[in-house]
Amino acid sequence: MLDKLSNSLKETVRKIAMSNRIDKHIVDEVVRDIQRALIQADVKIALVKELSNRIRERSLKEKMVLNPREHVIKVVYEELMTVLGKAVEVPLASQKIMMVGLHGTGKTSTCAKLARYFQKKGLKPAVICADVYRPAASEQLRQLCDRIGVPFFDSANLPQGKGVVEIVKAGVEEFEKYDVKIIDTAGRHALEQEMIEEIHELRAKVKPEQRILVLDASIGQQASVQARAFDDAIGITGIIITKMDGTAKGGGALSAVSETDTGIAFVGTGETVDDLEKFESDRFLSRMLGMGDIKSLIEMAEESLREEDIDTDFLKGKFTLNDLYQQLETLKKMGPFKKLMEMLPLGGFGIKLDASMYQVTEDKLKTFKVIMDSMTKAERSEPKILDGSRVKRIARGSGITTAEVSELIKYHKMMQKMMKSMSSGRGKMPGMKGMPLGKMMKGLK
Ligand code: GDP
Repeated sequence: MLDKLSNSLKETVRKIAMSNRIDKHIVDEVVRDIQRALIQADVKIALVKELSNRIRERSLKEKMVLNPREHVIKVVYEELMTVLGKAVEVPLASQKIMMVGLHGTGKTSTCAKLARYFQKKGLKPAVICADVYRPAASEQLRQLCDRIGVPFFDSANLPQGKGVVEIVKAGVEEFEKYDVKIIDTAGRHALEQEMIEEIHELRAKVKPEQRILVLDASIGQQASVQARAFDDAIGITGIIITKMDGTAKGGGALSAVSETDTGIAFVGTGETVDDLEKFESDRFLSRMLGMGDIKSLIEMAEESLREEDIDTDFLKGKFTLNDLYQQLETLKKMGPFKKLMEMLPLGGFGIKLDASMYQVTEDKLKTFKVIMDSMTKAERSEPKILDGSRVKRIARGSGITTAEVSELIKYHKMMQKMMKSMSSGRGKMPGMKGMPLGKMMKGLK
């Protein structure tokens, strides 16, 4: 489903996560990639422009409470969510659901899929067909219902010549004991007045709690025209977008619908009765972006990091002893680091995790802290001034051996070197990019 869009977005997230520095250059690149992907998926250009501006603005100017890479991923995620729009929940309750939509959208199949959905949730659904114009469609629906063991009612159950409202009312009465009554209405090839009047009357006389519009994903942005027209006519309570599996334009329908007053309840993803997915924007987007569970990752990071944990010197490319210490501490604070790492699709980054990387040893941290407390501010930000006599002084002041002070200096040098080699050759060390801490942790063992 939307494979092309999903692949492009995944690649974009990967690019962000692997960049060693977040700057205007990378944000512009990311925005360009997202623009291209969304336009190919038929998302309206004006919407893409708005989204691009917001990503640019927020990525670079918004106050960060996460590390810069996570910040940008969060911004991209949140902005894509606004394009996707809200999901609509169809309650698991006794109700009448009227299905509307044009011919060929997949309305008939969707009625059966929806019945199957309620059936799987333990409710008793029944289907009533109000299409008196296309006997073949009615027969198709009857067969689908037979196959899943759902009772079916249509004009054939009544004497000839009955009107649509009479048929539906009789069906509702017949299925009094059933929880969910799904009413399939007759479609047309276009938005004709006659159809609008018919569904308007049905709404008034049958009073269905849900009025669901079925839209075909392959019409892309045009989906919004139909959504608006049906919504104006009968007040739509939710939308099902069908054929998401068969088109690259699905992004167009999803985003167009979010511009109307209604939201998406389900998406159709194939031809069988089980190919209906409840639409949940969060999960949908996480899957599209390939994040195991980016939302909880972000929440977890937000909970564990405070603003003062973010060092701006580091963002500018300088790496002081303070940075080293803060990184260690932040990493430790992130708590179940292993869990956090598991949420990231690290495999795709070419990163292999070693169990030893998960642990920042408590003792090592304490020792470093004590050593650093005995240093002057200048020594912490310019460690290269640390000569033999300074090392001796620090060791004396902190009650720690000179060897341990030297060890700290050595780790810092190693890290600094690594940072430098990463920034000088993009792509040269893909396994380490975005993950300098892991490598460092290994060195600390
Ligand atoms: P109606 O004219 O709106 O009642 O449409 P139908 O239910 O008869 O569906 C038209 C065609 O679209 C049929 O061949 C269905 O199998 C197909 N179809 C419906 N929904 C989906 C879907 O989600 N995915 C795919 N691939 N095909 C679908």
